[in-house]
Amino acid sequence: MTDCIFCQIASGAFGSLIYEDDTTAAFRDINPLAKVHILIVPKEHIPCIDECGDMSLVAHMIEVARELARKEGISESGYRLMINCREDGGQTVMHLHLHLLGGEKICWGPA
Ligand code: AMP
Ligand code: ZN
Repeated sequence: MTDCIFCQIASGAFGSLIYEDDTTAAFRDINPLAKVHILIVPKEHIPCIDECGDMSLVAHMIEVARELARKEGISESGYRLMINCREDGGQTVMHLHLHLLGGEKICWGPA
């Protein structure tokens, strides 16, 4: 069993997925920084965006984020997509993830 928490969540082990397909999964952030705060991750363990070789996977993650934004009803009001990379980028979980933030004005990080 992997000791990566996002690998475990993405495998469906905790029943917390709100979206999944062959390559990608999504779940709610445990410490939400906005009314809607969802994390979109690849099922494969890729530590960070700098180590991701397949950019079509990232494009797919963004498409999933747009679809989830529609489902959450925040497409019209707007949202922010963010990927933090390594220490200076503020990455705390070393499994690539895309933040989807919305449902209110986002005041986190650079505007
Ligand atoms: P980052 O700082 O970009 O690496 O973001 C990591 C995010 O993962 C943070 O917003 C955390 O609140 C979130 N997080 C950490 N552990 C969990 C967990 N077990 N379930 C859901 N979200 C988590
Ligand atoms: Zn992982």
